[in-house]
Amino acid sequence: MDQENHTAELTRIASELKDPVFPKIFAVELCAECDLNCAMCHHDQMQRPKGNLPMPLWQKCADEIAATAPATNVWFSFCGEPLLMPERLIEMLHYGARVGLTSLHLNTNGMNLTASVARDLLETTLSTIVIGIDGYTAQTYEKYRVLGNRDRVYANVEYLLGEAARRGNGPEIMVQFIEMDDNMQEFTRYRDHWLGLGATVKLRRQLSWGGMFDTAIEISNDQRIPCPWAITMMHLFWDGRVPRCPGDTEGEEAAGNAWDTSLAELWARLGEYRQLHLQRKFDQLPARCDSCTDWKTGAAQKLRPTRAACGGNPS
Ligand code: SF4
Ligand code: SF4
Repeated sequence: MDQENHTAELTRIASELKDPVFPKIFAVELCAECDLNCAMCHHDQMQRPKGNLPMPLWQKCADEIAATAPATNVWFSFCGEPLLMPERLIEMLHYGARVGLTSLHLNTNGMNLTASVARDLLETTLSTIVIGIDGYTAQTYEKYRVLGNRDRVYANVEYLLGEAARRGNGPEIMVQFIEMDDNMQEFTRYRDHWLGLGATVKLRRQLSWGGMFDTAIEISNDQRIPCPWAITMMHLFWDGRVPRCPGDTEGEEAAGNAWDTSLAELWARLGEYRQLHLQRKFDQLPARCDSCTDWKTGAAQKLRPTRAACGGNPS
């Protein structure tokens, strides 16, 4: 996308941002460990202790979301790989569905998406499974997804797609391609491969994670918009802490802890930051917002397969 279109896209996004009474998206860190060391991820710099989200904490959060806003988009995705704990994830998904959550999603690196895990996931009410795969060749994929194995993740996702097509229902399966320095030359082959197998292809720009990475997005600060991440999303660390935003990866500006505070109260505490964004008082935001470029990432593009390619699954 050229700069003019990107600017127009940010203007459109900004025009749709309002301060919601409850987060539109709730991102859950099931497991803070990861088996990869991706080049564009801050995970290897994380200082905070790593652990796993206990079931009672998930139940507390899920109960509140179900009672308050059951259509909230709940994503099992933050700093860590959820499929390192597949059994707990499946249990959490079933619990969420039982109490009435209607929009459950998973983001994974796909390395542990074995055939048995794939079948279990297809028995849940997940609406979306996103698998991060940023290359077509092994050379490119493994350059960015360090410690990953291209052939294994491709085989895993291909099995998932085949099994979903055989059943004729299930979640939307997306492969996510993050645009980086030198992977775009593979995008056409990648897109055609995955669309042909019935996957949705999601193309998105790289995040700076609170300013830790340069992202080469050419949008100047005088075109700044309120940060969509801060306005729409709440994040939960495995230990219950709620950071100010996804750029606050250590929780240094955390709003509090979900073990002892309701999500509604934690969201209300973050309201002062949302107001600063929406009133465009950017100079009054915490210093991290000066170096962070994540307000300008814009929307992901989603390319959907034709019905014939996906064996009748919704496209
Ligand atoms: S798989 Fe995800 S959490 Fe793990 S290093 Fe890569 S981007 Fe980070
Ligand atoms: S711009 Fe500010 S609010 Fe948005 S993600 Fe970055 S640090 Fe967080």
